[in-house]
Amino acid sequence: MDLGIKGKRALVCASSKGLGRGCAEALAEAGVDLVMNARGAEALEAAADAIRATYGVEVTAVAADVTTEEGRRAVLEAAGDVDILVTNAGGPPPGMWTDWDREDFIKALDANMLTPIALMKALLPGMMERGWGRVVNITSVSVKAPVSVLGLSNSARAGLTGYVAGTSRQVAGAGVVVNNLLPGIHATDRIDALDGGAAKAEGISLDEVRTKRAASIPVGRYGTAEEFGHTCAFMCSQYAGFMVGQNVLLDGGATNTTL
Ligand code: NAP
Repeated sequence: MDLGIKGKRALVCASSKGLGRGCAEALAEAGVDLVMNARGAEALEAAADAIRATYGVEVTAVAADVTTEEGRRAVLEAAGDVDILVTNAGGPPPGMWTDWDREDFIKALDANMLTPIALMKALLPGMMERGWGRVVNITSVSVKAPVSVLGLSNSARAGLTGYVAGTSRQVAGAGVVVNNLLPGIHATDRIDALDGGAAKAEGISLDEVRTKRAASIPVGRYGTAEEFGHTCAFMCSQYAGFMVGQNVLLDGGATNTTL
C-alpha cells in the first residue's frame, strides 16, 4: 500500500532499537527521509546505516538524550522543518507506590510527558504553516489500564494523553493530526528487562515469565516492533487525515474492555 508520504521528512525520537526503530523502518519503507535519535551513538549509527542501505532514504543520526533541554536542542536543530514527528523515550523504572518521591515523578514527567510536549510545541507551528503534519506519540497500554508496578509511567502518560486530547483539536484545522499509539507487550529490550525483574521477584525463569505473559494475551504472543512500526506509519500517512486525538491500542487484545 502506498501511504502517500514518499519524500516527506520525519523526526523519530529514541529510534535505534525497539518500537522507535520499528517506526523508523516502516516510515523509511514508505519513502520518508529520517532524523533518528538515541543516546548511544554506536547502535544509532548502525541502525541509520542499515536503514539507508535497505530503503535508500536520507537518514540523519543525532546521538543525544532527548529528555534533556540540550539534547532536544540538538535533535530539533538537525530536524529543521519536519512533516512527521514520532515522540518516544525510555520508560520509567518499575516499583511500588511507596518507592517514589517528588524527584522520581519530576524525572518521569520530564521524560514521558514534558519532552513530547516540548517537541510538539517546537514543531507544530511549522507543520501548521505548511498545512500538513502528523504527530504520533508512543505512550503505553497503561493509559487505558494501569500496570501496577509502573506508577510513574501510568501518571506521566496520563498527563500527556490529556494534553494531546485538547491540543489535537486546536491544530487539526491546519491539516495537522496528532494521535497516540499505545503499546501493550512487545518483544523489545525494555520488555526483556521488565520480564527479568518479574522472574526475579516471582522466583521463576525468564522463559516461564514469558510463557505466562504470552498466555495472558488473546493472540498468544508478544507484539513485534515491525507490526507496531507499520501501524505508526499508517497513522503518519495521507489516509490518517481524519484521525484526531485518538489513543490507538496495540495489545493483542490483552486489555479486556469493550471500548
Ligand atoms: P527499548 O527497546 O528499551 O528501546 C528504547 C530506544 O530508545 C533505544 O533506541 C534507546 O537507545 C532509546 N532511548 C531511550 N531513552 C532515550 C533518551 N532519553 N533519549 C534518546 N533515546 C533514548 O524500549 P521500547 O520497548 O521500544 O519502548 C519504547 C517506549 O514504549 C518506552 O517509553 C516504553 O516504556 C514504552 N512501552 C513499551 C512497551 C513494550 O512492550 N515494549 C509497552 C508499553 C510501553 P539509547 O538507550 O541508546 O538511548
